Amino acid sequence: METTKRTKREMKTVEEMIKLYCHDHHHTKGDELCADCQSLKNYAFARIKNCVFNPDKPTCKNCTVHCYSTRNKEAIREVMRYSGPRMMLRFPGLTIMHLIDGIKDENRISKFLEDKEKKN
Ligand SMILES: [Zn+2]
Repeated sequence: METTKRTKREMKTVEEMIKLYCHDHHHTKGDELCADCQSLKNYAFARIKNCVFNPDKPTCKNCTVHCYSTRNKEAIREVMRYSGPRMMLRFPGLTIMHLIDGIKDENRISKFLEDKEKKN
């Protein structure tokens, strides 16, 4: 399946956020992740790859479909809450692009849900 530039950017953003969180909370270093964070990352990547909007996927933050399981949603929220503000300092370019991607998505998501509504 085709992976768009923005999807790659989202995966990179998620990966860095989890890494940052894991380093500070679970005392891992470099590219290392603890088992829990590794499985959360795998889960997030799998969700991104299987997104219903593919290949032109919006950023998960703005999505209204919510494909995450409750447990994983809580875990990723925790990571975002911690790493979100810190990402801005470490990877300003990546973070800003990710935010812009998010803003552009809002219209597209509501349109998708409208169309889906009509089909049902
Ligand atoms: Zn960890």
